[in-house]
Amino acid sequence: MARPTRARVDLGAIRHNYRHAKAQAAGTRALAVVKADAYGHGATAVARALEPEVDGFAVACIEEALELRESGIRTPIVLLEGVFEPDELASADRAGLTPVVHNQEQLDWVCAARPERAHAVWLKMDTGMHRLGLAPDAFAAAHARLADCRHVTDVVLMTHLACADTPGHAATEAQLASFQSHAGHLPGPRSIANSAAVLGCRAAHGDWLRPGIMLYGASPFGEAHPSAAALRPTLTFESRLIGVRDLAAGEAIGYGRRFVCAAPTRVGVVAAGYADGYPRHAQDGTPIAVNGQPTRIIGRVSMDMLTVDLTDQPEARPGDPVQLWGDQIPANAVAAASDTIAYQLFTSLSRRVPISYERSG
Ligand SMILES: *Cc1c(COP(=O)(O)O)cnc(C)c1O
Repeated sequence: MARPTRARVDLGAIRHNYRHAKAQAAGTRALAVVKADAYGHGATAVARALEPEVDGFAVACIEEALELRESGIRTPIVLLEGVFEPDELASADRAGLTPVVHNQEQLDWVCAARPERAHAVWLKMDTGMHRLGLAPDAFAAAHARLADCRHVTDVVLMTHLACADTPGHAATEAQLASFQSHAGHLPGPRSIANSAAVLGCRAAHGDWLRPGIMLYGASPFGEAHPSAAALRPTLTFESRLIGVRDLAAGEAIGYGRRFVCAAPTRVGVVAAGYADGYPRHAQDGTPIAVNGQPTRIIGRVSMDMLTVDLTDQPEARPGDPVQLWGDQIPANAVAAASDTIAYQLFTSLSRRVPISYERSG
C-alpha cells in the first residue's frame, strides 16, 4: 500500500465560495486570488475550475501568471506585486497580464514601455498598511501620468487593508478615509477588499473584490462571523493510523518526552508530520479526527509522524482513517493551536502530499 497521506481538494466548494464572495456585494467583480499555487490547492486546477465564471485572477508574480497562461487560462490576470524588473513587462505584454504599479520605479517602467497591446494598470496607494503602494500625496500625479500613456487603457485604483480581519477596527476607517480623500476625485474602478473586507466591511467593497483565503473555505476572522458561516471547506488533509499502543500512567511519548501520560493511554501513530506540512508547533490538545471522531494530538510532531490520543477509541487499529483538517476539523482550529493561521497551513503542504481533485455540486 502507498503512503496514505494526501490532500483531497473539492473544486465545487471553491466555486461555491467564489460565488459567496460575489454575493456579498451585488454588481461587483472579483479577482480570484490564486497566488502561492492557489494557497496550496494547485493553481492550475483551481483556475480551470473557476475560469467559466471568474472575472479575473490575481497572482503574486509573473512566474505564477505564466504557469496559468501555459495551462490555457485566458482570463485577465493581475500581478499583485507588479513586475520586479522592467524586462518583465515584455513577457507580461506577450502573455496579456495586468500589472499593479505600487512604486515610482514601476511607474517609470510602465510609462516608458512600448507594449504591442494596450493594457490596464492597477495603481496602488499606501493608505496605512505601509507595505506596498504610492504615498497618498503622490497618487494623483501618478494617475495623471498613466492617463497620458497611450498604451494604458484603464487604471484601477487600489489599496490594501491592514486590519480588516478585526471588523470595525478604527484603522480600517482611517485607511478608507485616506483613500477617499486622495483618490475620491479620480475616475476609474476601485479595489480594496480582501476576504475579510468582502465578508465584514461593506464600505470597502468598491468595484473589484480580491478574495483569497475565503475561496479556500477558511474564515479570515479569529472569531465566528455570520457571513463566513456559509463557506465550505475545500481541502481535506488526511492520512491513516500506522501504529497503536497502550501506555501506562507515567510513560512519555515521542521526542523530548513532551507528553507524559497521566493515566493509562491508548496512543495512535499517524503517518503525517512536519515534512508533509503539518505544523511542528502544534500543541498537545490540537484537534484531529480518527474514524470521524474528534480527538487530540499528544506529544511533539515529528518529521513523518505524529501521535494522537485514542483512549476513547479502544477499537481503533492501524489503517483507520485520520483527518488532519477538512470538513471535520477546521484548519483554523489547528492553526490556532499551533500559533499560526490557516493561510500558512495551506501554503505549507509539501510536495510529498499528493493532491486529488473532486467536484461536489
Ligand atoms: C493575498 C492578497 C489578497 C487576498 O487576501 P486574503 O486575505 O487571502 O483574502 C488580496 N489583495 C492583495 C493585495 C493580496 O496580496
